[in-house]
Amino acid sequence: EEYILEVQQLTKYFHINKEKTVKSVDDISLSIKKGETFGLVGESGSGKSTLGKTIVGLQPATSGSIFYNGTDVEKLDRKMKKTVNRELQIIFQDPHASLNPRMQVGDIIAEGIDAYKLAKGKERQDRIYELLEKVGLRPEHAKRYPHEFSGGQRQRIGIARALAVQPKFIVADEPISALDVSIQAQVINLLDDLKKEEGLTYLFIAHDLGMVKHISDRIGVMYLGKMMEMSGSDELFANPLHPYTQALLSAIPNLNPRAEKRERIVLAGDPPSPVNPPSGCRFRTRCPHAMEICAKEVPTWKEVQKEHWTACHLY
Ligand code: SF4
Ligand code: MG
Repeated sequence: EEYILEVQQLTKYFHINKEKTVKSVDDISLSIKKGETFGLVGESGSGKSTLGKTIVGLQPATSGSIFYNGTDVEKLDRKMKKTVNRELQIIFQDPHASLNPRMQVGDIIAEGIDAYKLAKGKERQDRIYELLEKVGLRPEHAKRYPHEFSGGQRQRIGIARALAVQPKFIVADEPISALDVSIQAQVINLLDDLKKEEGLTYLFIAHDLGMVKHISDRIGVMYLGKMMEMSGSDELFANPLHPYTQALLSAIPNLNPRAEKRERIVLAGDPPSPVNPPSGCRFRTRCPHAMEICAKEVPTWKEVQKEHWTACHLY
């Protein structure tokens, strides 16, 4: 199978002071196939944004490797590095914070076009108009400023800016979490259409499994810097193996009245601090199935069923 992106034993640590280290991303491996949408889910503080930012090169990894189209990104020459930087793009959660309020929308969208010298003059202008239309806005919007737009429109501007440099792989970091529920579906549908039109691959980050269910081919679940479970999307919903995934799923309201009623699993307490995570399994302080071994040994990452991975001593 053809992987566009492979992450091997990636870690990203932040050293706060001599004694304190936050293991935001701790020994994570995953592979993403060309053309798929990989949903990455976890509570805030689980390290999912850190993983996304490290993958697109916004920050260096502490250890581990990232392969893009089979090549270790650390081993690229300058020219290839520039191409890879262009092809890996990120869309941020908060469209307010990520758009410069003093720049016209057209210039915001063209930032990457200018930086990579992809077009100038009339060609640049035409490209801006084309991008605006692609994301459901209009050419006359190019002369306006971000504050003149709604939250949903601002996210469309952010998407146009990412598309401007002809990316191949996009990390969408909670692109709909800050938006009204009524427009979340519109933005999801836009991203899904653009994926087909532009031949994109997505790493789609969300804090809620319900948000990624319909768009993801596969899903990974993170907790305190660790990957807990990973499988095909349908498989994960039908057969969740990890107690954390089971709890997340039980919290999604079931809209089908004929479906078997799932018992809501309420987790005790808040997630512990990633500065001093629990020994052994990081989920053990909230896990209804925790056993003695869970405090002593870190569960290994195992393929329990075909293409269905989890890290839990129950398996
Ligand atoms: Fe629960 Fe133990 Fe599995 Fe962790 S390893 S999820 S504590 S049963
Ligand atoms: Mg985040």
